[in-house]
Amino acid sequence: MLEVRSLSKIYGLRYALKDVSFVAQPGRVLGIFGPNGAGKTTLVRILAGQVRPTAGTVSFFGRQASGDEPEVRRHIGVVGHHTFLYDDLTAVENLRFYCRMYGLRLGESELLARLEEVGLASRAHEPVRYLSRGMQQRLALARATLHNPEILLLDEPYTGLDQSAVALLDSLLARERLRGHSTLLVTHDVEHGLQLADDVLVLVQGRITASGPAQQFSADSVTSFYQSQGEEAR
Ligand code: ATP
Repeated sequence: MLEVRSLSKIYGLRYALKDVSFVAQPGRVLGIFGPNGAGKTTLVRILAGQVRPTAGTVSFFGRQASGDEPEVRRHIGVVGHHTFLYDDLTAVENLRFYCRMYGLRLGESELLARLEEVGLASRAHEPVRYLSRGMQQRLALARATLHNPEILLLDEPYTGLDQSAVALLDSLLARERLRGHSTLLVTHDVEHGLQLADDVLVLVQGRITASGPAQQFSADSVTSFYQSQGEEAR
């Protein structure tokens, strides 16, 4: 379980996040929506240990995290704006590198099976720089889930994916739910996001302006929160 309490982040004089609190429950997908600049990526980066909050706490399974500790990293998988892939290494070499980082002992055939899952088996031995953007995003998904993390942080993970990869990611989220893992999904595709989410969080100018079970929201109601609360949140 992931618990966020009174999280704030200030850049210069501006709050990127202000007093954000929520819980991401096991076996559920939390859809995070909000307009440009709402603080979604800042939130994901703080949870991933890439950025330090100005105030507030983040706890994983009841243990407060203070940054990018290896024991925290083992529990989380991140797909963000950056793929965290090494261009000069091949697809399989990238996975091997991350295995070492996570202390995993996965053999070559297991790594190839992971690439097969994301439709990249035939490109396993090509340097990442030769893969298309969507292929790199597929590989980023394989990398992020390599260590079977209990918490998955996905910031616009559908970017660049074709229809078959979208279906693949949808089924990956369903699998994570069945495994009792928590997923945080940031997306601008509100309609698709609502189909996948169990719970919803709407951020506007760094603050939570709406939250609750996904059934309580429609795509229109989510986007109307962006507009109607935007001025108030300033
Ligand atoms: P988008 O939907 O456009 O990706 P977002 O909701 O992910 O937006 P963030 O990227 O978290 O928003 O940005 C929130 C606010 O924090 C914005 O005002 C942004 O300009 C500011 N911000 C983010 N990162 C930095 C930084 N490194 N330095 C200064 N300001 C920053």
